[in-house]
This record gives sequence, C-alpha cells and structure tokens, in this order.
Amino acid sequence: MTTIRLLGSCTIACCSAAFTTLLYNYFHQEETEVLFFYGTLPLCNLHRNITTITTTIQNNECFQCKLSIIIGWLNKSKKTLDICMYMLNHELLSNAIIDAHKRGVSVRLILNEDNLQTTWKMGNIGILKRVNKGKHNENLMHHKFIIIDNKKVILGSMNWTKVSVRANWENVFITNNCELVNPFRQEFQRLWKQFN
Ligand SMILES: [Zn+2]
Repeated sequence: MTTIRLLGSCTIACCSAAFTTLLYNYFHQEETEVLFFYGTLPLCNLHRNITTITTTIQNNECFQCKLSIIIGWLNKSKKTLDICMYMLNHELLSNAIIDAHKRGVSVRLILNEDNLQTTWKMGNIGILKRVNKGKHNENLMHHKFIIIDNKKVILGSMNWTKVSVRANWENVFITNNCELVNPFRQEFQRLWKQFN
C-alpha cells in the first residue's frame, strides 16, 4: 500500500510539475538570446560616435551593444537579483547592480574570496554578500550566472570584467525558460546556504 501511495503521489507530483510548466509556458512567451563576444574591439557607428562614415560593424557585432542588452535586463529588474559571479568588477555592470539595489531590488551576491576586493563598492552599501572562502583558491566558486526576478537567467563563459567584455571570446546566454531558470534558482539557494 505504501509503495502504491508513494507511486501515486510521485505521479501526481510529476504531472503537477509538468502541468505547471505547461501553464507557465502558455502564459509567458519564451525569450531566449545568445550573445557572442569576439575577442576584438568592434564598435558600431553609434558607439564610435560616427554618423557620416559607414563601417562594416553592425549592431549585432558591437560589444558595446551586447553589453547594453545585459545592462538593459539588469535595469528592468523589479524584485530580485541573485548573482553568482567569479569575477565582477566591470564598472557599468556593477553600477547597474548598485542602481537596482538603490531602487529597492533585493540583491544577493555570491563571490569567491580571491575577487572580494574588486567588489568593494557593493560591500559598502548594504548589498547582501556571501563568499566562498576556499583555502588557497582551491574549490573555486567559478560560476557566472545572474537570476533576475526569479524568471530570467543570464549565464555563460563571461566574467563581468572589462577584459572579458572587451577582449575575450565569450558567450552569454539569456533565457526566461522556467525549465532552465529553476535549476539555477535551486543552485543559488544551495550555495547561499553553503557559504553562510
Ligand atoms: Zn554598438
């Protein structure tokens, strides 16, 4: 009987989760975007302040345009920003996080100890922060993901540093697909407890 009840409750739970996902996907249009940074410094005319000369650099190649997309999502955050980032010292991205905090968004930050000094600005204004204090930089907290309002995740290879944005070949993936966002929410919660 116990086995039957257990199986029954599992089936209901699975169906319930699948149904919830179906409902969510029905009412929320999926938005997914992939950005590649090219390891060079291409800038579009707008970001080079050129209005008369046509260059071959299009908006979809310009690193500043792509950075603006990420900052745009941070600026749209309304309730929460959960950030798990190995290196975070890019001024514009840091400022977007600070601005979110100042307008009442609940910001939580998970960092690795060796990069703690680079986020000093965020340490002084009351942003909640937890740190992996692995000995001698073993077991790095090497993640690079940000969850916005529990609905959207931005992830990829890119640390949020000037070098990563301007000079590296990097990928950034942005999605509001709840089947992809939810595992990151769970992992953030797990790490938030672990680094307490
Ligand atoms: Zn541009």
